[in-house]
Amino acid sequence: MSGQNLNAVFQAIGEGAFLIDTAKKTAACIVVFIFCFCAKHEDLTEYTAVKNLQTAGFSVAESAPAEQRTEVSPAQMRTLNRGEEVMKAFAAAYPDRIGAAEFRNEDWAVPVYGKRFYYAGGRLLPEELLSTAANYDPQPFYSYHTELPEWKPPDDASAARFKNAANQRQERPSRRSYLFFDTLLRAGDRDEAYKRVKSIRLFGWNVLVHYSIMEELALVEERINASAENDPEVKRWLANISSLSGWNWRGIADTGSRSFHAYGTAIDIVMKPQPGKETYWLWSAQKGVDWWNVSYSNRLHPPNAVIEAFEAYGFVWGGKWLFFDTMHFEYRPEIFILNRLPMKKEK
Ligand SMILES: [Zn+2]
Repeated sequence: MSGQNLNAVFQAIGEGAFLIDTAKKTAACIVVFIFCFCAKHEDLTEYTAVKNLQTAGFSVAESAPAEQRTEVSPAQMRTLNRGEEVMKAFAAAYPDRIGAAEFRNEDWAVPVYGKRFYYAGGRLLPEELLSTAANYDPQPFYSYHTELPEWKPPDDASAARFKNAANQRQERPSRRSYLFFDTLLRAGDRDEAYKRVKSIRLFGWNVLVHYSIMEELALVEERINASAENDPEVKRWLANISSLSGWNWRGIADTGSRSFHAYGTAIDIVMKPQPGKETYWLWSAQKGVDWWNVSYSNRLHPPNAVIEAFEAYGFVWGGKWLFFDTMHFEYRPEIFILNRLPMKKEK
């Protein structure tokens, strides 16, 4: 995505639009609530919640077929609102591949290279899988912050929960559908994915990455190299890289779900080991280290300037995840848009 495109994205879905949107949705919720209340008491059952959204000027109305007569519970309404946000974020993040979000068949959908995908409670499914949606897990559209939250040692209950969460990942592999990202990145299997990757030179290393992020990575590198000129910490970081890897047709180590490395849209920047410093929660766990108890100061964190350079171009850093992965950067502009974090390309 170019800087201009990004500007447009943030002008379009920036704070102003968000506030208007929120106001509309709040109005819509109030109308739905009042209407449900009235309907119950005055037997006006021929009206529907979706119909009332039209009265409120909610955008659902514009594309909802007139014949739709569906009762919408508050929980369904929250899902609908989230569906609208997520699908609009995707459309904004990949304007060259994803068309405008639209409300169809009582759900939000986007065309990806012309193939329509539905939000489906976060599952991102094509029409043919909607009837078996229950077989799939939702995608995690997680919170992501500019600042690392202050690190505190977890209490016993939290530690037990984290440990248990790690076991669960292994015992019950995720059942997400990959079709949305397979279609978006045109990489549905190993051979197809291999056709999409190109070898680039990054920080002096050759690495295979998806063709669509080559420019972003070149600009990240430019920014980091510029910082290194007057930031000794960044210079040291560059000198301490021990390997760099991008495309690798594989699943997420312990879950079986498809990693963004499989598409070449994630890269790992591995540093020379430093005694007592941890890089990746799973490596720590495998060594018998209580990974949830590893404070930031005992992790191999890149300098802030490095993290900021990646984030400026739409890459999330795995060091901000609970299951920390401090070597990992992944191109997910939709996560920034959903968290209303501007990517600061122009800085
Ligand atoms: Zn990785």
